[in-house]
Amino acid sequence: MTPFRIGFGYDVHQLQSGYDFWLGGIKLEHDKGAVGHSDADVLIHVICDALLGAANMRNIGFHFSDKDPKFKGIDSKILLQEVMKMIRAAGFELGNLDSTVCLQIPKLNPHIPAMKTCLAEVMKVEENSISIKATTSEFLGFVGREEGIAAYCTALIYKV
Ligand SMILES: [Zn+2]
Repeated sequence: MTPFRIGFGYDVHQLQSGYDFWLGGIKLEHDKGAVGHSDADVLIHVICDALLGAANMRNIGFHFSDKDPKFKGIDSKILLQEVMKMIRAAGFELGNLDSTVCLQIPKLNPHIPAMKTCLAEVMKVEENSISIKATTSEFLGFVGREEGIAAYCTALIYKV
């Protein structure tokens, strides 16, 4: 078996006023926030799904059910720590990950360094292993109408 495996993650959350806006492990100042059973951190969710997919371990909802009251409002950083434990227990380490967040406003570029620092700490990997990119959807679709946020991530893991 090849020592390298890749995985992919995709996720969407609604944006509504009256919710905190957690993204990439940090809280953004905005008049809307992401809605979900957990803290709805879409970037962490796609990272978890890419890692789990790479290890062929299903997805985040399989391990942390959105029906389980135990995970209500949970900090997604805890879920990411659990996922890293799972892939390391299976003998893998992160090679690198590359992610894209689709959001109309606010501009994410100023926040990306803080997100990378936070996620590297949570995952116990080098910041250089984590790429975060941001794009708008040019005012099209649910992202463009500021109704939601979407994210994508690919991750490469390797057998230690
Ligand atoms: Zn999610």
